Amino acid sequence: MSPSPKIESKPELDFGNAWDYATAPEGTQVVIQEKYGLFINGEFCPPRSKQFMDTVNPASEVVLAKIAIANHADVDLAVAAAKAAFPKWKRLKASERAKYLFRIARRIQERGRELAVLETLDGGKPIKESRDVDIPEAAKHFFYHAGWADKLDYAFPGLTGTPLGVCAQIIPWNFPLLMAAWKIAPALACGNTVVLKPAETTSLTALRLAEIFQEVGLPPGVVNIITGPGNSGAALAAHKDVQKLAFTGSTRVGKELARNLAGSGKRLTLELGGKSPNIIFEDASIDQAVDGVVQGIYFNQGHVCCAGSRLFVQEGIMEEVLARLAVRIASLRVGDPMDKNTDLGAINSLGQLATIKRYLEVGTAEGAHMHQSTAKLPKRGYWCAPTWFTEVQPSHTIAREEIFGPVLSVMSFRTPEEAITRANNTPYGLAAGIWTDKGSKIFEIASRLQAGVVWCNSYNRFDAASPFGGYKQSGFGREGGRQGLWSYLELKA
Ligand code: NAD
Repeated sequence: MSPSPKIESKPELDFGNAWDYATAPEGTQVVIQEKYGLFINGEFCPPRSKQFMDTVNPASEVVLAKIAIANHADVDLAVAAAKAAFPKWKRLKASERAKYLFRIARRIQERGRELAVLETLDGGKPIKESRDVDIPEAAKHFFYHAGWADKLDYAFPGLTGTPLGVCAQIIPWNFPLLMAAWKIAPALACGNTVVLKPAETTSLTALRLAEIFQEVGLPPGVVNIITGPGNSGAALAAHKDVQKLAFTGSTRVGKELARNLAGSGKRLTLELGGKSPNIIFEDASIDQAVDGVVQGIYFNQGHVCCAGSRLFVQEGIMEEVLARLAVRIASLRVGDPMDKNTDLGAINSLGQLATIKRYLEVGTAEGAHMHQSTAKLPKRGYWCAPTWFTEVQPSHTIAREEIFGPVLSVMSFRTPEEAITRANNTPYGLAAGIWTDKGSKIFEIASRLQAGVVWCNSYNRFDAASPFGGYKQSGFGREGGRQGLWSYLELKA
């Protein structure tokens, strides 16, 4: 493990908490408050509930801070602030709204190292991923949508777009700041106001984003951030003054929200789970494909909705792929997320670790063969070695259900037709990967895969300009790109 953070006592601030200074790699100083309130109407305030929960560093099990739990009264205040801010924000010249988004993007870049360290401490992901993916991508989303703010008339030619009003946004714990950016940036660009609820285990970077909103002078109430568990999210989703709900999370909760909101007149977009296929054909460059498979499933410990968790290998190359996969996986470094050479960090929570372990047991009990990297795991914290199963049948639980961990199920196919059938044999449809040297095969197979994103000879590549979303039980609506704006506008012909 890297040296433990140096903690200094600081003067009391806000509502009487000591502040801690953690000295992180590369000398980045990260201030973590002992307690965090809610961000409502441009200010941090204690929750009306008077209740707090711990947020824990999953790599060390150390409590980092206490986070407020929003109750109905807190949700009322946050929604009222967003409602009050809406008329003025909506009327603001679009180029002025764009300026705020640009400033937010710049401040995310300027505070990038601090945000990366905080993301890794709170969520357990490797620092190289927070530093090179999460934080830069979050900035890019604000830059991208700043560009759209005063060009909405060109997004939907011949139509006039008007904002919806107060948007409730609920996000998961796998890409905390990035998911906040995916949600907030398009909503603001389109002239809406927001109440965002981050996931209970990873609220710190969203609260840090709130500081950035203060720094750039975003008008009070335009974005409000309330923290808490699922109940806080449910109260927010159900609030009568919310016009739209954008939810990213599990299919189970997504379905529940869809049922609850039916008939309410609220707009809804759902980004849910996945069980994405990654298909290697015999004519693929095998080393490149194996690298892509590893990236597809072990990136962010497999806590990725579009993770390539089902690997389909054409029969003739199965032995070779498995041999190279084993060598490649053995080289992955698992451990201290603050070490810049770490490939897999900690599992986000004890609960998620228990879920993953349950799937490992079920996989073995149902007859699949489990392989694990022999990487030495730290004694404290929540860890799972990179795992892959062979002898997997499509009917096995591990081939059907989303595990959301570093677990790959390997299966074979003979013909392209069989690959397509097997790949589509899932209730999900978020993403897919194809590895082949033949361009014509790419176009044919990609067009027949039921998935919102199909990567060809690559995996897990993201772009703010590219719409992301699912088929089937992976949800509906798109985020990112021109299409993502539609979810935040009422269009008039
Ligand atoms: P989750 O559904 O348990 O929680 C997601 C968020 O919803 C959290 O903020 C949680 O507090 C809140 N929540 C929980 N119950 C709620 C309720 N009844 N009403 C309102 N809000 C509620 O999911 P999770 O375990 O945090 O995240 C993992 C899941 O998210 C995986 O299934 C993954 O595939 C999915 N995910 C999807 C995408 C995507 O873009 N499609 C991206 C990331 C994660």
